[in-house]
Amino acid sequence: MTHYDFAVIGGGPAGSAAARRLAQKGGVVALFERRAMPRTKPCGGGLSVRAMAHLDFPIPPELVDSEIHGTRIGLGAIFGEARLERLIGVLVTRSKFDHFMLKKAEEAGAQVLWQEVKSLEVRPDGVVLQTPEGEVTARCAILCEGTNRRLSLAVRPADTPRQRAFCLEADVPVPQPDPFAALRDMIDVRFGYPGRGYGWVFHHGTYYSVGVGGVAADFKNPREVFDKFVAGLGLDMTGVRVWGHFIPAVGLMRPMCADRLLVAGDAAGCVDPFQGEGLSYAIRSGQLAADTALAAAARNDFSRTSLAGYERRCAEAFGRDLRIALFLSKLTHLWPSLFTWLLAADPEVLRRYLQVAATELSYRFFLRRLILKGPWRWLKSRLRLIL
Ligand SMILES: Cc1cc2nc3c(=O)[nH]c(=O)nc-3n(C[C@H](O)[C@H](O)[C@H](O)COP(=O)(O)OP(=O)(O)OC[C@H]3O[C@@H](n4cnc5c(N)ncnc54)[C@H](O)[C@@H]3O)c2cc1C
Repeated sequence: MTHYDFAVIGGGPAGSAAARRLAQKGGVVALFERRAMPRTKPCGGGLSVRAMAHLDFPIPPELVDSEIHGTRIGLGAIFGEARLERLIGVLVTRSKFDHFMLKKAEEAGAQVLWQEVKSLEVRPDGVVLQTPEGEVTARCAILCEGTNRRLSLAVRPADTPRQRAFCLEADVPVPQPDPFAALRDMIDVRFGYPGRGYGWVFHHGTYYSVGVGGVAADFKNPREVFDKFVAGLGLDMTGVRVWGHFIPAVGLMRPMCADRLLVAGDAAGCVDPFQGEGLSYAIRSGQLAADTALAAAARNDFSRTSLAGYERRCAEAFGRDLRIALFLSKLTHLWPSLFTWLLAADPEVLRRYLQVAATELSYRFFLRRLILKGPWRWLKSRLRLIL
């Protein structure tokens, strides 16, 4: 086949979610993926309850490495820990999770084409995609190519080094005895690696995902920072591969559509810049892009004006959260110690923060509480020192 109703480019979580939704609603869909799956994707593998709530199927137990109930955050000597009774997320291995998501799209009827889309051209009557195996046409294309963007530059400009974070990540086998056994159901975040960023240890059972990440413009010597971080953890890195990857850090950046084109997931900047959580927003934006494309097909109008409802839907669904997350990440970068202290000093604040991940509280509520109560708590702690 060389003509489809819809072409989805990129078989990551955004693309698979979009292709599944389109196929479920009767669209004839081609899902293009350039790499054979399962493929490696550097990631902490944190899949929040928010992300899982968007899926119309459960995550099979064999994909769950760990169940997460709490967090531990720190900066130097400042440390805080909180737990919730209920689940706030699970840890998955991305190579397996992404393959599973792609199979879910295929199962719904999307045709997976293991080809790289080299270029695309928007014509009045459709989109023409060039692949090494030939030309494919579609009425509309959803671009889910991740952070290494080429095709979606036709819709939105490249992110500047200030609008994206750079991360180094490695999966390190758990030694025996396990020095981080206490972190089995927690995510451990350590601010200050690099100065404007953080390091993490996510315990996947058989391996730890360890990494560091910070705003690309300020992250000058990533390998040195990473080596210092893992040395501080006392981990043996012999034979362990370290991966580098970018994450968007823009909040919600428009435009996200043009005539016959929609952009979703990392390619559209749909990532929480504070936590680096992208899976939830990739899945949701992919689904919203699919819904918009289906509605445009029903009207037989794929103009930018007809597709613009997609930007509004994303803004309504998670725009405010990403804006607040961007503000929080800027606060952390400006005053890392004060901010960590505000989070760590009171377990109640951290618990509230976990409730945001568990979708019980909005970011807006959390921020209000942090700002209103924070200075008072700080003053009280100073007075205690003086009196
Ligand atoms: C180090 C690190 C840690 C992270 N940790 C977390 C975490 O713990 N939790 C969380 O929620 N998020 C995390 N994220 C963010 C998360 O990984 C991303 O937000 C998510 O992968 C975005 O999904 P996507 O589908 O938009 O893009 P991707 O997952 O990058 O998928 C894009 C796909 O498109 C394919 N592709 C690209 N161009 C073409 C083309 N021209 N033709 C065909 N195929 C193409 C690629 O091969 C790839 O498979 C992390 C990111 C990094 C870098």
